[in-house]
Amino acid sequence: MIATGIGWDVHRLVPGRPLILGGVRVESELGLEGHSDADVLAHAVIDALLGAIGAGDVGEHFPDTDPQWKDADSLELLRHVDALIAERGYHVVNVDATVILERPKLGEHKQAMRERLAAALDLDPGRVNVKATRGEGLGFLGRVEGAAALAVATVEAPGAAA
Ligand code: MG
Repeated sequence: MIATGIGWDVHRLVPGRPLILGGVRVESELGLEGHSDADVLAHAVIDALLGAIGAGDVGEHFPDTDPQWKDADSLELLRHVDALIAERGYHVVNVDATVILERPKLGEHKQAMRERLAAALDLDPGRVNVKATRGEGLGFLGRVEGAAALAVATVEAPGAAA
């Protein structure tokens, strides 16, 4: 059986926080606010994967009230999800994600992001695609008030025909 999941996340951009996307530290005056490292891209990927295996959402697994996840490296959370996927007998087929950030431009970081996300999932980087786009000056994304990410993940249950 092939199953698909969708993920969406948004975090506020604030001064004095690092901007970490897909596990990559991006040089920026503003960073993302959150209980963990606020890696909006990793969180969207996590939700897509949890959705694909029917396992709820990131907030259920890593509650922002739990001190264990304070300033957590979101790639560590992704590795937890990868272990859960394996435990339940699924294999990740591919992940596709889009980050929406007005600035800075992410083009030069996309490859590193896909490599870091793929490594956390023990996948070939060719199975993890990262795209970047802007808010074009519109709404909270365009006003540089926040960043958003969306992701789709496809998984396969072992031994089952697609
Ligand atoms: Mg989040």
